[in-house]
Amino acid sequence: MRRIGSSGDAAARTTPVYDPATGAQTAEVVASTAPDVDRAVQDAARAFPAWRDTSLAARTRVLFAFRELCHRHRDDLARLVTAEHGKVLDDARGEVARGIEVVEFACGMPQLLKGEFSEDVSTGVDASAIRQPLGVVAGITPFNFPVMVPMWMYPVAIACGNTFVLKPSERVPSPSELVVELWRDAGLPENVFTLVHGDAEAVDALVDHPGVAAVSFVGSTPVARHVFDRAHAAGTRVQALGGAKNHAVVLPDADLASTADALVAAGYGSAGERCMAISAVVVVGDADPLLAAVAARARALVVGPGTDPAADMGPLVTRAHRARVAGYLDAAVEEGAELVVDGRTVEVVGSDDGFFLGPCLVDRVTPEMSVYRDEVFGPVLSVVRVGSLDEAIGLVNANPFGNGAAIFTRDGHAARHFRRDVAVGMVGINVAVPVPTAYYSFGGWKGSLFGDAHVHGMEGVRFNTRLKSITTRWPVPASAPAPRRSGLRLPSGDAT
Ligand code: NAD
Repeated sequence: MRRIGSSGDAAARTTPVYDPATGAQTAEVVASTAPDVDRAVQDAARAFPAWRDTSLAARTRVLFAFRELCHRHRDDLARLVTAEHGKVLDDARGEVARGIEVVEFACGMPQLLKGEFSEDVSTGVDASAIRQPLGVVAGITPFNFPVMVPMWMYPVAIACGNTFVLKPSERVPSPSELVVELWRDAGLPENVFTLVHGDAEAVDALVDHPGVAAVSFVGSTPVARHVFDRAHAAGTRVQALGGAKNHAVVLPDADLASTADALVAAGYGSAGERCMAISAVVVVGDADPLLAAVAARARALVVGPGTDPAADMGPLVTRAHRARVAGYLDAAVEEGAELVVDGRTVEVVGSDDGFFLGPCLVDRVTPEMSVYRDEVFGPVLSVVRVGSLDEAIGLVNANPFGNGAAIFTRDGHAARHFRRDVAVGMVGINVAVPVPTAYYSFGGWKGSLFGDAHVHGMEGVRFNTRLKSITTRWPVPASAPAPRRSGLRLPSGDAT
C-alpha cells in the first residue's frame, strides 16, 4: 500500500485514500502528530528570514518558473485530482486552470506590493506606507478542489515573502505531493513551501502553534468556525471559509433553455461537490416548464468514471458521503417533496463498487426540509416555488449560509435590486457559478466565512502582509545653504 506522509513510525495512525470510481483503496495517509507539525513550522520559520530578504525580482522569477511548471504538468495534476476526488478529467483540468490563474496573479506581486508615498505632509515631513510579510502562514484545505483551493492561498502568501505550511485534505493528498516537486524544480528554497499530511490532530496543532502568524482555512462551516475560534483565541490572524447553500433565483422572463443549461452545469458539475454549486433553484411563478427542461437534461447526463471521456459526471468522494447524500433524498420524500429524477438507481457498467450517485432533482421543497436546510454537497437540485422576487430574496437572506447566489432574468431593474439587496458574498447575474477571477477576491458572508478577508486578489495580498506607516523628517544639515533650509530654491527667472 502506498504510504503518503510517512513519519517512519510503522504504528502511526493512517487514513485510507480511495479511487472513488472503483471503490478500491489506493493509498494511506499517515496522520501527522503535534511534534511532526512543530518540526514543519520550525523549518518554515527558519526559512522565512532569507526568503523575506530575497528581492522581489528574484522571488518573482521563482513564481514565473513555478507557473510554467504547473502549466507543463497541468494534465498530471488533473489526473491526480480525478484519481482521488473522482471528478471528470475536464472538470479537473478546469480546476487546475483556475488555480494557475492565481499563480499568474501572484507573478505580478512587485506591482501589487508597491507602497504609498506622500511628500511634505507637513513642512519637511514625508509619509509612506509599506506592506511586509507576516512569517509562517498555514493553509488548511478541503477535499473538493485539491489543486485550486490550495492555489488560492500559497502563491499569494509566498510571493508576498512568507513561508507556507499546507495541510491538504487527507482524502486527496497526491496533487499536493506533486506541487512540492514543482516548487522545488522552480527553484524555491527549501522549506518555503512545506507539506504536512493528516487530519484534525494536525490542524489543531497548526492552528495552536505560536510560530504560525496566520491561518487560512477552507472547508465545512463547523470546522471553519472551530478553526476561526481557536486561532482567534490564540491571537493569530485567520480567515476561515466555510460551507454553502447557493440559490439560483429564476424569474418568469428568464431564457428557459440557457437557464436550464446553466442550472444543470452548476448543480451537477463535479457531482455537486463544489462550494459554489447551485443547490436550491428558487422559481418565481410557474416552475413546471423549467422543471421539465432541467429534468430532461439531468436524465441525459452520462455518469461514469472521471477518466471516461464520455462521462459528464463522476462519483462522490467516499462511500460514506454517497450514503449521506442519498439519505437526504429519502428524508425529502418523507417530508413531502417530489423526487422528479432519482439518481440512486444509476448503473455504471464495470464500476459496481464505485461511489456513484446520478443527478437528482427534487420538486416542492420547502425551507423546513433537511434537503434545503443542510449543505448536501452532492448532485441534488432542490426546486423551491415562490410567488415574488422579494420572497425569493427573503429566502436567500434568511439562510445561514451566504456564499453565492444567482439570478436569471432579462429585467435589469430586477437584477439590480437582487444584486444590491441579496446577503451573499458572490452574486451572478445570468451566471450560475459566479466564482471571482484571480485578481478579484473569493469569499462568502454569514456562515460561509469567518474573518474579514476574502482569499486571493487584493484581499489576499492584504491578508498575507502587515501594513506599516512611516513618517519621516530629516534634520536639515547645519551646513546647508539657507534656501534649502526654508524650502525650494527656485531656478532664476521662475520667480515671477
Ligand atoms: P472538512 O471541513 O471536513 O475538512 C476541511 C479540512 O479540515 C481538511 O483539511 C480536514 O482534514 C480538516 N478537518 C476536518 N475535520 C476537522 C476537525 N474536526 N478539526 C480540525 N480540522 C478538521 O471539509 P471537506 O469535507 O474536506 O470539504 C467540503 C466542505 O468544504 C464543504 O462544506 C464545502 O462547502 C467547503 N468548501 C468551502 C469553500 C469556500 O470557499 N467557502 C471551498 C471549497 C469547499
